[in-house]
Amino acid sequence: MTDWTHEAARLDAEDPLAKWRAEFLLDEGVAYLDGNSLGALPRATPERLQRAIRQEWGEGLIGSWNGAGWIGLPQKIGGMIAPLIGAQAHEVIAADSVSVNLFKLIGAALQMRPGRKVVLSEPGNFPTDLYMIAGQEAQGLAERRLADRSDIGSALDDDVALLLLTHVHYKTGAMYDMAALTKAAHATGALVLWDLSHSVGAVPVDLNGVGADFAVGCGYKYLNGGPGAPAFAWVAQRHHADLRQPLSGWMGHAAPFAFEDDYAPAPGVSQLLCGTPPILGMRALEVGVDLMARIGMEPLVAKSRALSAFTGKVMAACVPELACISPADPAARGSHLSYVHPHAYELCQALIARRVIGDFRAPDALRLGFAPAYVSFADCWRAVSELRAIIDSGDWRRPEFSTRAAVT
Ligand SMILES: *Cc1c(COP(=O)(O)O)cnc(C)c1O
Repeated sequence: MTDWTHEAARLDAEDPLAKWRAEFLLDEGVAYLDGNSLGALPRATPERLQRAIRQEWGEGLIGSWNGAGWIGLPQKIGGMIAPLIGAQAHEVIAADSVSVNLFKLIGAALQMRPGRKVVLSEPGNFPTDLYMIAGQEAQGLAERRLADRSDIGSALDDDVALLLLTHVHYKTGAMYDMAALTKAAHATGALVLWDLSHSVGAVPVDLNGVGADFAVGCGYKYLNGGPGAPAFAWVAQRHHADLRQPLSGWMGHAAPFAFEDDYAPAPGVSQLLCGTPPILGMRALEVGVDLMARIGMEPLVAKSRALSAFTGKVMAACVPELACISPADPAARGSHLSYVHPHAYELCQALIARRVIGDFRAPDALRLGFAPAYVSFADCWRAVSELRAIIDSGDWRRPEFSTRAAVT
């Protein structure tokens, strides 16, 4: 029988990213396999926020908009995210939530394709993506069309203004071929908007390399920006001149402090700002993004694949009764694995009680996420061995593990 404890220790000893775990405030007793839902706390964040609050806000007061550079943070942080997604610095902006950025970019895309109303996506996409299309549909601006993953190609016709897909599926982890789908959409005259929420910081993304049009992504998952961190939006430079987003707030105006009655959009992605940016959230996001940028995408991707490959192998050997619904090829999936079981919820709660934190996605999936900056191979082995113990002991049947809280 394989000694997985030994094998995990060997892989950790050889791991070039092992030293980065110390950059996070993570209790040694916790195996945190949910960084794909809420990234861990960077060690530098509390102090940076203290400084932002006491000095920048407390002492600098309103002068910090200029003096501490608050006003330029959305563009600055956008520029720091750019190399993680194959973008140019001036094409990315940190702003609002993913949902709100989806609304802006769906609206912008529809205005760039007059005469076309269909926004094409897939059933089972992350709900907010589908809901934000529905919101535009309710206003008579869009028509929502859903096609299964294998039928996307045939659902693309000359009514489609925009193809909106999530690059890495939040539940299964399946990753689209971004280059191929972007090409297929463009061949029918449609634009493409990629949701990178489960991609940025974990898998290779080359937006300009594939010639995509728009993208959005999440700040609180692999970017470790903290709960409710600002999200980001990307617009290919070739679209900047034609960009018109519907949430025409004053911070996206060409001259916000001219206080004019008529709206005139700021050039480029600055137009994507709507209201005043949340500066404390921006400061926390800046620390998280800076960490990821310093580690670099190449080693992050390599580690992510190694972690999921290891876990997949050990799960198959030790807990074969849980069926994996994620693609078998590490290069065809994101940075998490999903396992289905009729009692996935209870199994997940029992794991959490043993301080192995994964999550549950309705109706029956147990997700194990591998944030490559701080997850160790020992964490992964611990998750599998605890799961084995929970099933063998029947521990998951304890009544407290079937109580559902508001957030699952
Ligand atoms: C996490 C996630 C979001 C988050 O949206 P918010 O509006 O920022 O809460 C959006 N899309 C996908 C695919 C996600 O995984």
